[in-house]
Amino acid sequence: MEKDTMPLVGRFAPTPSGRMHLGNVFAALLAWLSVRSRGGELVLRMEDLDTQRTSPEFARILREDLTWLGLTWDRETPAQSTRSRIYDACFEQLAGMGLLYPCYCTRSQLHSVNAPHLSDGTYIYPGTCRDLTEAQRQSFSRKPAWRLRVPDREYALEDKCCGSFRQNLNRECGDFLVRRADGVYMYQLAVVVDDGLSGVTEVVRGRDLLESAPRQIYLQELLGFEKPQYAHVPMLLSSDGRRLSKRDRDLDLGQLRSRMKPERLIGWLAHAAGLLDKEESVSARELAKEFSWERVKKEDIFANTDCFCR
Ligand SMILES: [Zn+2]
Repeated sequence: MEKDTMPLVGRFAPTPSGRMHLGNVFAALLAWLSVRSRGGELVLRMEDLDTQRTSPEFARILREDLTWLGLTWDRETPAQSTRSRIYDACFEQLAGMGLLYPCYCTRSQLHSVNAPHLSDGTYIYPGTCRDLTEAQRQSFSRKPAWRLRVPDREYALEDKCCGSFRQNLNRECGDFLVRRADGVYMYQLAVVVDDGLSGVTEVVRGRDLLESAPRQIYLQELLGFEKPQYAHVPMLLSSDGRRLSKRDRDLDLGQLRSRMKPERLIGWLAHAAGLLDKEESVSARELAKEFSWERVKKEDIFANTDCFCR
């Protein structure tokens, strides 16, 4: 099928580890508008790989919060915590290609290398365990994590918000982890498999994940999934330039819902995004009628949140 005639499928992929904060809602709103303005389908998926931090109760509240905001979805795909057998099969597929190897490095070893690291906190892996002999591998008593070999090649994407982005995986990332020593699969693998299997054709998410897109494109290629369209949306910053996060409790949806109607919050976010000339109450459904990526701001946004704190 031609790319233009493929059905449009977007997704929400929240981590149920707490209430959504303004930044999460901002990205969710843009994902919703992009799909709904063109008559596409939206899938919801709970990213709960880290079962220590996440809970079904938070997942329930997340669904309720999205519903309150008017950000509807068409189907929910199985949560990541239930899919380890599917990830196992993909892991075996990569292993069969000879691209995986065990890594015995400890966290402190990796950090002491002092290599420059990516904005998501990942260190550029220097390849320490890449060419260990079988005898050397046997000499470690601890269980290894598993890394994927990357080629000395540039991966590029045309992002709807950020424009062109390129990264040489070998020089700017290094071989990356796909499974932890305790058997838990890494986000990079899970997200590619989940998006691929649910037919996602558009990924809208925060700009903090832009640097992980080339790794995901590489995995899509290896596992035979289509490359989706990407839009990495600006981050919402506090007046002192800090990213709004779950630490900003007074700006989480639990607090905001007790103080305002959803239309006021949607209107404020749409204004911050550049979709409304002035701040006014509006529903997501009304906004979808005139949505265009061209209007969405490209730079991170300093958010004046004083109006929410009164
Ligand atoms: Zn290693």
